[in-house]
Amino acid sequence: MTHRIHNFCAGPCTLPLSVLETAQAEILDFQGSGMSVMEISHRSKRFEPLHEETLTLAAQLLDMPEDFFCLLLPGGAHQQFCMIPLNLLADGGRAAYIDSGVWAKKAAEEAARIAETDIIWSGKDQQYRHLPDTIELQGDYRYLYLCSNETVNGIQFREFPQAAAPLVIDVSSDFYTRPIPWQDCDIVYGGVQKNLAPSGLALVFVRKSLLQEHPQINKFFSYKAHADNNSLYNTPPTWQIYILNLVLKWMQAQGGVAHFAAQAAAKSSKLYAAIDQSDFYHNDIAAQYRSQTNIVFRTPNEALDTLFWKNAEAAGLSGLKGHRIVGGLRASLYNALDMRSVDALIDYMQDFAQQQT
Ligand SMILES: *Cc1c(COP(=O)(O)O)cnc(C)c1O
Repeated sequence: MTHRIHNFCAGPCTLPLSVLETAQAEILDFQGSGMSVMEISHRSKRFEPLHEETLTLAAQLLDMPEDFFCLLLPGGAHQQFCMIPLNLLADGGRAAYIDSGVWAKKAAEEAARIAETDIIWSGKDQQYRHLPDTIELQGDYRYLYLCSNETVNGIQFREFPQAAAPLVIDVSSDFYTRPIPWQDCDIVYGGVQKNLAPSGLALVFVRKSLLQEHPQINKFFSYKAHADNNSLYNTPPTWQIYILNLVLKWMQAQGGVAHFAAQAAAKSSKLYAAIDQSDFYHNDIAAQYRSQTNIVFRTPNEALDTLFWKNAEAAGLSGLKGHRIVGGLRASLYNALDMRSVDALIDYMQDFAQQQT
C-alpha cells in the first residue's frame, strides 16, 4: 500500500486519496487523448466540457442562486484582496472591514492602498480571540468585508453579522464546510488550496449586478471581463481546475456540503473536547467563535510545543506547527481529512502529555 501520513497542514493541504489515484491513472493519457490534461489546449473539446462541468458543480454544491455568477480566477485569494476593491469601489464609495485576524487584516491593507476603507471593528486588542455578533455601520458603505474563518488565529464566524451593507466574504478555509447565506452577500470567494484543489486558483461567486464595465481598471482585474469569457479570458490554471473537478465530484458522492458540515462539527468537537478535558493542552478562544476547520492549541510552554510537533512529524502526523506569526500548534481538519486522523492525533496527544507530566 502507498505510504500516506495524517496531514494536518493548513494549506496547501491533504487531498482525497481517490482523487490523487484518478489523477495518477490519467496523467499520461487523459480520456484516451494520449496526452495529459496539462498538455492540451484550454479551448479544446476535451478541456472545455471539464471546465464547464467544474463551474456547474461548484455552483450546484453550494446552491448558488441564479443572480450569482461563478468564476475561476488565477492568483488565489490575494488577487481577490485587490480585485474586490478595484471592482466594487471603481466609481468611488467606501468599504468597511472587520479586522478579525491575519487574513482580514491583509485584505483591508490591500484595499486601503487604492480606496477609502474603514476598519469598523478590530479584535486586535483581545489578541483576536473574539468576533463581533452585531455590526452597526455608521454611514454609507458599498460593502462590509469579513473573513468567515481566520485560518491562522483559529477563529470562525458561526453566524455572519447582519449589516446595512452587502457582505463580501473570504471563505478560503471553510469553503464547502457550511452553507452560504447568499441573500446577504455580494461576493463569496476563496483560494482553493484549503479544501478543494492545488494552490494558485480562486473560486469566486459574484452577484451578477456587479459585472459592470470599469474602463478605469485593467481588463484583467475586471470581473466582467472574466465573466464575459466564462473564466477563459486568459489561459487558466488547467491542472488546478482538473483536480478541482475531481474533488467536487468526490464531495458530491460523499453527500455534499451537508455531509461535510456535519463532519466538520463532529471532527472539531471531538478534538476540542480532548483539549478541554486535559490539564496539559489549552485553547483560549470562546466556544462560540472556535473554528471548526483550524484548531489552535498550546502545551504548557513553547519548548514543549516545538517538541510536540517535531515528535508528531516522526510519528506520521504532519503539519501541526502553528503559524509563524502566532506560534503554538494548529491542526487543520479540512474535508479530505477524516475522523481516523483526528483519532490518531488525540491518541498522540494523550501519549505525549503522559510522557511530559
Ligand atoms: C490561505 C488563505 C488566504 C491566502 O490565500 P492565497 O491563495 O495564498 O492568496 C486568504 N484568506 C484565507 C482565509 C486563507 O486561509
